[in-house]
Amino acid sequence: MITQEPASGAAPPAIPAGRQRDRPQRRSRWLAAFLGSGRRKQIRVAQWLVSALTYAGCGLVMAIGLAFDWVHGAHLAQWLVLAALSQALFYAVLRSGLSERFADPALTGPQIAVGLLFADWAYVIEGPGRAIALMPMLLVLVFGAFSLHWKKIAVLTLLALAGFAVSLVLLQWLRALQVVPSTEEDLAQDLVYFATLVIVLPAAAGLAAQLSRLRSTLRAERSALATALADVQRLAAFDELTGLANRRHARDFLAIEQARASRADAPFSVVLIDLDHFKHINDTLGHDAGDKVLCAFAEAARPLLRSCDLMARWGGEEFLIVMPDTDATAAHAAALRLLDRVRMLAPVTDRPMTFSAGVAQWRTGESFTATVTRADDGMYTAKRAGRDRVLVVA
Ligand code: GH3
Ligand code: MG
Ligand code: MG
Repeated sequence: MITQEPASGAAPPAIPAGRQRDRPQRRSRWLAAFLGSGRRKQIRVAQWLVSALTYAGCGLVMAIGLAFDWVHGAHLAQWLVLAALSQALFYAVLRSGLSERFADPALTGPQIAVGLLFADWAYVIEGPGRAIALMPMLLVLVFGAFSLHWKKIAVLTLLALAGFAVSLVLLQWLRALQVVPSTEEDLAQDLVYFATLVIVLPAAAGLAAQLSRLRSTLRAERSALATALADVQRLAAFDELTGLANRRHARDFLAIEQARASRADAPFSVVLIDLDHFKHINDTLGHDAGDKVLCAFAEAARPLLRSCDLMARWGGEEFLIVMPDTDATAAHAAALRLLDRVRMLAPVTDRPMTFSAGVAQWRTGESFTATVTRADDGMYTAKRAGRDRVLVVA
């Protein structure tokens, strides 16, 4: 953005900081008080506002009819008062959150039904200006497109046509009683309008239903996408077979732990574990049995770890445990407890399950990769020394 200095070179008059902050805050406070809290409720109240403004607009246009004597002042006043009351009631139920108890918390169906009723009523009282009622009839169905199932839209369309037909009968009766003014062309005009609605309303309802279906498809796709994303995130960080963290996640964790340990000057240790004679399990019982043993090992280890520890499947039958705030002695003790627990697992072959492990404590200034390599060396030394043991690497 290019900003220009005032020609005089003097700084523009400063708005006091308090007032600068105040205005938007005050405006958003008013808006929040009107719309209520929570995004969904705010959308519902905002939708109601559109409909309430439409009522107000129609009321104004109907008032023009007063100037031409198309409508009785008393009839219009009744319409306006009841329309205002019905809208106030909808606002109260939406804003208070009472509508959340219903299957249709936006009250779209009831609002449409009431809207149709007021449109019919306007048609009956507005004399020659009665065409004003036809447009809102189309509009109310468009509201349905935002939340109603296409079947409900179809029912409301039939209701609209039936309601209009009943209004015409009522209107004829009121004309006969001379409660509302009438002219000779009235009946013909009524029938033309009715025929127009019979053609236009189903077409509008069809469009609304199509939009509604599109919204459902979009919603389903969005939910499938969210599930897929959650799966991808899980797969990116966790091992599918054992549910433990995977190597990538362990490396990220180690990097964070290394940074934390450097700052806090607190030690952390790693334990690298390799199951003994695992190939023998696969060879004698099959790969599936081997998989089950890997899962059983992970399950056995879980309760022995602290919530701050991270156990990862480092690869094949190798596992890495990262223990924050732990020196080599404590990590050694924890690994021995785990070895004891694993020995107690029901053997699947002729020999009990065991592992060999190396323990290394992170040294100040050392990279976590080097720490893991030292633990790996310890694990190989443990293998060479006869397996079934835990060695600490200095
Ligand atoms: P050592 O005591 O020296 O570690 O012997 P070992 O048999 O455990 O070691 P080796 O490296 O010879 O064999 C590891 C085996 O682990 C070989 C591989 O087929 C098996 N393995 C690796 N990943 C999986 C897996 O996800 N499932 C199963 N069932 N087996 C696996
Ligand atoms: Mg191995
Ligand atoms: Mg092994």
